[in-house]
Amino acid sequence: MSSSDRLSHFSLKQEAVTFEPSRHAGLQRLGQFKPRAGAHYANQRNFDLGSDNRSTVSGLSPWIKHRLVDEKEVLAEVFSVHDLSASMKFVQEVFWRGYFKGWMQQRPSVWHYYKSNLKLAFEGLERDLSRKADYVEATKGRTGISCFDHWCSELKSTGYLHNHARMWFASIWIFTLRLPWELGADFFLNHLIDGDPAANTLSWRWVGGLHTKGKTYLACPSNIAKFTEGRFEPIGQLSTTAEPLTEEVDHSLVPLMPVQPMPEGDFLLLITPEDCQPNTFIEAQPAGVLGLLPASNSHQSEKVQAFAQGAVADALSRFEHLTSPATATNNWVEHLVEATRLAGTTQIVTSLATLGPVASHLDAAKARLAEHGISLHQHQRTYDGLVWPHATKGFFNLKKKIPTVLTDLGFVMQ
Ligand SMILES: Cc1cc2nc3c(=O)[nH]c(=O)nc-3n(C[C@H](O)[C@H](O)[C@H](O)COP(=O)(O)OP(=O)(O)OC[C@H]3O[C@@H](n4cnc5c(N)ncnc54)[C@H](O)[C@@H]3O)c2cc1C
Repeated sequence: MSSSDRLSHFSLKQEAVTFEPSRHAGLQRLGQFKPRAGAHYANQRNFDLGSDNRSTVSGLSPWIKHRLVDEKEVLAEVFSVHDLSASMKFVQEVFWRGYFKGWMQQRPSVWHYYKSNLKLAFEGLERDLSRKADYVEATKGRTGISCFDHWCSELKSTGYLHNHARMWFASIWIFTLRLPWELGADFFLNHLIDGDPAANTLSWRWVGGLHTKGKTYLACPSNIAKFTEGRFEPIGQLSTTAEPLTEEVDHSLVPLMPVQPMPEGDFLLLITPEDCQPNTFIEAQPAGVLGLLPASNSHQSEKVQAFAQGAVADALSRFEHLTSPATATNNWVEHLVEATRLAGTTQIVTSLATLGPVASHLDAAKARLAEHGISLHQHQRTYDGLVWPHATKGFFNLKKKIPTVLTDLGFVMQ
């Protein structure tokens, strides 16, 4: 790292990010960040300067996760200031999200296997009280490893962690504390306001050596000291080895569903926390709009639920004359049947949800809605349709295709 790189984050003023669940706030943050999406991001992105200074990264993940601001808009804003070669590192990071989502969508057993092993891991804690105590101490940030304890409390108080802190945290969880990775992934999903089943599950698997088989990520004190600007240096506290985790199962590739055309005629638009901008690509006017979220589970933080609820409410506010408030419920069928009846239609259109709680609700609702004569259409964004087919193997395959995908999205590349 050159001395000018080193100086440049000091020369920026302290820059905390306030995560408000609105499109307006997401666009404001994008506008603030975009001048730095070129060389500054490439050189500084690994520095975690703490929650009161997010100047090295975009901090856009909570808005992108809920698609209050989507990937194409982020790329367009960045290209208004930088060309592709200058912003390549940032662009690649944006594509990592689509890579993980497309990869897991084509290997659904990874998600189902994680969910069933998570249940087993919780049951295992009841049989091993010493491990249970370690788990409780870890989730309360009382391990005595000060960086880990700090990130635990930062995660709970802000709903966000820097990427490097997530990697260090997951590595310490798996290799130093020797806790099951599924419990750590669950803890993240319950506290990250950008919590995404694909990005989170596959990142934890990547740290543990299950995604790129045999390749693990080991957190080490000198790397932590360097990239936290000396805030932490856990000498002698961390495991110095990282034996890859293994699993018996081979996750086979399941072809993506063919893209369905939009149905003809009137429809009810269903907005979920998976996509709070469906009006940007579903052009027809809906006959009614409904916003639904999965009911909060008892472990989910209030911040996570409040951001998701706020994001859906923000999306609904763009259809003022057509809507009722966003509802968090596990009884989707009843709400959908009633709203469809009120809208005078028998068709529901919603954005295609990838594996996770929203997709589970939609899958469960589909057959029951059919019994009421109501069809459910899940519409795929062009961006996802272009990215996911390249996410069958390692990221490198998608990385090679980035210029082609950008051209297909309508960007003019020099
Ligand atoms: C253990 C672990 C768990 C994670 N869990 C999640 C999660 O639940 N949800 C989530 O969105 N990301 C997750 N990530 C990826 C990454 O840490 C976050 O996307 C990133 O820190 C968000 O901060 P940012 O917006 O400032 O990112 P920036 O560095 O500014 O990147 C811009 C955008 O690119 C995308 N992106 C960047 N890095 C990644 C990545 N490695 N994987 C996928 N997308 C990426 C995000 O949408 C991000 O907003 C996880 C990483 C690890 C190591």
